[in-house]
Amino acid sequence: MNVDFTYYCYRCGTKNDRNLPSPTAPEFYEGELKCSNCGDGTRVILSHCPNCSRYVYWICDISIPNLVTGFAKYMVHNMQTMIDKAAMQGATISIDTPESYPISAKCPCGASFSVNIPIPDLD
Ligand SMILES: [Zn+2]
Ligand SMILES: [Zn+2]
Repeated sequence: MNVDFTYYCYRCGTKNDRNLPSPTAPEFYEGELKCSNCGDGTRVILSHCPNCSRYVYWICDISIPNLVTGFAKYMVHNMQTMIDKAAMQGATISIDTPESYPISAKCPCGASFSVNIPIPDLD
């Protein structure tokens, strides 16, 4: 499903109209937007409410999936340090790495849902 998406450029204030895919949550679309006037780039995540015809979106200068990946790497690195320390003391720790990172959303219709950002396999 595609939606007409309008946003105002943070830098120059120009109104930009786009037609973007909007998969139903927890699926999402991530894309890069470029202002038609000044060329300023920003990133958007769009997801469709499972309960009504609206969609929710996040606009961000950085890529949220990249952020999640970076954070997951940081977490895994720190857990590894902890596991190594535990191993030296004879303890065994097993960890289930989550496969996705949920971002909570609330639609004006009252529905609460989440968008799942996949976490890549870091083993
Ligand atoms: Zn602009
Ligand atoms: Zn809704």
